[in-house]
Amino acid sequence: MARKIQAIRGMNDILPDQSSVWLYLEKTVAEVVKSYGYQQIRFPIVENTDLFKRGVGETTDIVEKEMYTFEDRNGESLTLRPEGTASCVRAADQAGLLFNQVQRLWYTGPMFRYERPQKGRYRQFHQIGVESFGMATADIDAELIVLSARLWQKLGLLEHVELQLNTIGLASEREAYKAALVDYLTEFKDQLDEDSQRRLSTNPLRILDSKEEATQAILQGAPSLDAFIGEESQSHFERLQTILKANRVPYVINRRLVRGLDYYGKTVFEWVTTHLGAQATVCAGGRYDGLVEQLGGKPTPAVGFAMGIERLVLLLETLSLIPSEAKFSADVFVVSIGDDAEVASTTLAEQLRENLPSLVVLRHCGGGNFKNQMKKADRSEARFTIILGQDEVEQGVCQVKDMSTGEQQTCAFEDLPAYISGNL
Ligand code: ATP
Ligand code: MG
Repeated sequence: MARKIQAIRGMNDILPDQSSVWLYLEKTVAEVVKSYGYQQIRFPIVENTDLFKRGVGETTDIVEKEMYTFEDRNGESLTLRPEGTASCVRAADQAGLLFNQVQRLWYTGPMFRYERPQKGRYRQFHQIGVESFGMATADIDAELIVLSARLWQKLGLLEHVELQLNTIGLASEREAYKAALVDYLTEFKDQLDEDSQRRLSTNPLRILDSKEEATQAILQGAPSLDAFIGEESQSHFERLQTILKANRVPYVINRRLVRGLDYYGKTVFEWVTTHLGAQATVCAGGRYDGLVEQLGGKPTPAVGFAMGIERLVLLLETLSLIPSEAKFSADVFVVSIGDDAEVASTTLAEQLRENLPSLVVLRHCGGGNFKNQMKKADRSEARFTIILGQDEVEQGVCQVKDMSTGEQQTCAFEDLPAYISGNL
């Protein structure tokens, strides 16, 4: 036997019993974002490597060690997108959608990062991202957060997630803070974990969210970012909080929250849960007023967030929050005995689908004896089985068996849709 080829480590198949949960989640998101006026944008999975180097930042974890980068046949350096924001900006700007305009956009699809695979962390994972452009005031930051809260509420997740909020100020404020932080941490350099030592010269802010206890202990005495936040950033942050309070969205302020991507400024936030172990963040985002310009566009204020579909699916499953309507199940199973009945069963099934489009109508294919077909009907868990033999075809009727009671009724072809919808 030929050796079977396996999927790439950290890249999962989404099998039929899971895909119904994905569809439910995606449908719910699509409805919620639409109600706020967001339109979908789709962009390629592969981009020029420079887009992410410049967009996400050279010293971020993503660019330093997580990207799937390769040369195409022309020797051009391409990268499988590790996130959506940079591509979204590239696509929207390239189409002239950003300058002097307001845009509300969302996207969904696979992202690729070379990380250590574990529960809630994969090498191909999926995000739904929501981005807004052209709005500089805190009411749009609030809109995005309220939108996400509405989504959690619809999914039954609101009480299982916590909103963490911070402001990381303007670039100049962060620079001043970075200098103070590096000053302080340099004294303790030898006691920092290896990653943090490296970040001291590359990306010192990221040291704040180090998971190492020794590093966290040293950080206790470090200067605090909020002392460096200027008037403009502070009032933006307060305005955001006022609107969140008016909309009864609870939050906690986490002064250590900095986010791992370079483009953020002012607002940053994460929705975290206690139900998923170390992979606790299900949704994260913030303001990135500098990114469009950094990628060659005109200065354009922007805010957005992205959520991890796998983590949300895990959370819904862990908490048993998947409604029964979301699960796939057959409603009607059609069996037929004999050549004429087989043909008639195809048109009868079509008639049902035409009249009752939300129904799942399964036809038994490939003939076989009655007993076997009925076994399959049983296994399908369909509520009704339609039975057609030569006699039925000649009389223009079928037998309808209610699988929950075992009762069987004769029904004329033309009456079948009404009978099924009336008895479901
Ligand atoms: P983390 O701190 O967990 O590595 P991150 O800050 O790298 O997350 P973002 O780049 O902000 O994550 O992505 C937004 C969301 O996408 C995350 O909150 C998470 O839900 C999801 N996500 C990120 N990386 C992965 C991954 N490798 N596998 C599954 N989901 C992921
Ligand atoms: Mg990460």
